[in-house]
Amino acid sequence: MWRDPAKALPQSGPYLRNGDTRLRVAVIGVGYVGLVSGVCLADFGHHVTCIDKDSRRIAALNRGEIPIFEPGLDALVEANVRQGRLTFAADSAAIAEADVVLIAVGTPSRRGDGHADLSFVYEAVKDIAPLLADTAILVTKSTVPVGTGDEIERIVRARRPNADIVVVSNPEFLREGTAIKDFKHPDRVVIGTDDARARAVLADVYRPLLDVAPFVHVGRRNAELIKYAANAFLATKISFINEIADLCECVGGDVQDVARGIGLDERIGPKFLRAGPGIGGSCLPKDGLALIKTAHDHGMQLRVIETACAVNEARKHAMARKVAAALDGSVSGKTIGVLGLTFKADTDDTRDSPATALIAGLQDLGATVRAYDPAGMEQAKLALPAVEYCDSAYAAADGAEALVIATEWQQFRTLDLVHLRRVMAQPLIVDLRNIYDIEHMKRAEFRYVALGRSAHAAVPLQMPRQRLRAMSA
Ligand code: NAD
Repeated sequence: MWRDPAKALPQSGPYLRNGDTRLRVAVIGVGYVGLVSGVCLADFGHHVTCIDKDSRRIAALNRGEIPIFEPGLDALVEANVRQGRLTFAADSAAIAEADVVLIAVGTPSRRGDGHADLSFVYEAVKDIAPLLADTAILVTKSTVPVGTGDEIERIVRARRPNADIVVVSNPEFLREGTAIKDFKHPDRVVIGTDDARARAVLADVYRPLLDVAPFVHVGRRNAELIKYAANAFLATKISFINEIADLCECVGGDVQDVARGIGLDERIGPKFLRAGPGIGGSCLPKDGLALIKTAHDHGMQLRVIETACAVNEARKHAMARKVAAALDGSVSGKTIGVLGLTFKADTDDTRDSPATALIAGLQDLGATVRAYDPAGMEQAKLALPAVEYCDSAYAAADGAEALVIATEWQQFRTLDLVHLRRVMAQPLIVDLRNIYDIEHMKRAEFRYVALGRSAHAAVPLQMPRQRLRAMSA
């Protein structure tokens, strides 16, 4: 992207300290967002300290062990640690030296009511407020409801009335599985502040991205809203295509063809139009709920988003029934193999994964579940202790009356179907990610049940077809 140098964003540095002009960044919270942000900013050349209150996590990182699975992360961490740009600490000493402090702690759903739980954010702010440099820029990367930045500012002002600390919202849009690429090549960088100095410092933080992505300079509240509105829109798009998939099953359509046909319309776009077992992960479901709660707090309803979230929840719980339907209505006493436990491929994150709801549903219906996931089994064991965890896809399929593909890991796209036929009790694949070709499965003599591809709908749907024929007669 060419940029007119005259219009380039202002520069605030150099940040001269101890004979070193590098920008000093501290990141609070070393999870999926904090660790990726920290290492990418170090890779941009800044001096970064990642701080987490989980001292075991920090000790592991200092031994060179990466606590999460994210492609390319281990090599990038190793390189930046070796070059002296990236350090890890369980205490907050580095805060005092930092020009910029990023808050990247979790904001899960508050138990019981669905509001965002901001206790980790406020606890972190209270901890670091006394330590911040007088001119520090305090940046919220965590996803927080509109108005949270105002409350953070109030907390900081109360503790540091004479300091010139600026609170900025800079929401993160990276996706697990492609997090490094997303951070280094974002669709946009959203900077929420009206303060000119803070904008200049943030321009320095993201300087390598100035020619890569548009910078969206907005007020802090708008930045907070952008993040939630984006996630709510994505959740709505997925719920939309999932309902179209159900309709395809009823009327003899194929959702893959329909999605391609509508996605080529530039106003719609092809992404996030894949039918699946429902949206999972640590963001979209809880952020949708939090946005709905924000609206309720202000006496209004977000009916489109409420419906999209309700459709999604219902769908996750319907998947076990879809498997049962493929087995003549019952899984009781049967062994089901499940491939994939994470909410998407290329992560170990099983938070709110559709596979969790699927397996719990199958177990409720009396099935024995054997499962395999390339990266998510340790996390899954905490929520689903009564599963037989296997060391390969073929071991999970061993003796199974159906094999369910719940996550679209690459290695599940090229299974040896001859091997599978040999080990399974019967050749039945329920593909909740539509990753196989129907003809390929037919040739391999598998019964193949996919999503939104009517010829292979789990439930025989004679009634609607008859009605359609009657209508066209
Ligand atoms: P996470 O649970 O993986 O990591 C949070 C980390 O913060 C944990 O390691 C925890 O020990 C640490 N922490 C909590 N309180 C602390 C404190 N007071 N001091 C120091 N460390 C503390 O969370 P995550 O998935 O990285 O998400 C972080 C935020 O980013 C959330 O608001 C989330 O909604 C948002 N987000 C997440 C993603 C994603 O893909 N995971 C993408 C965009 C935005």
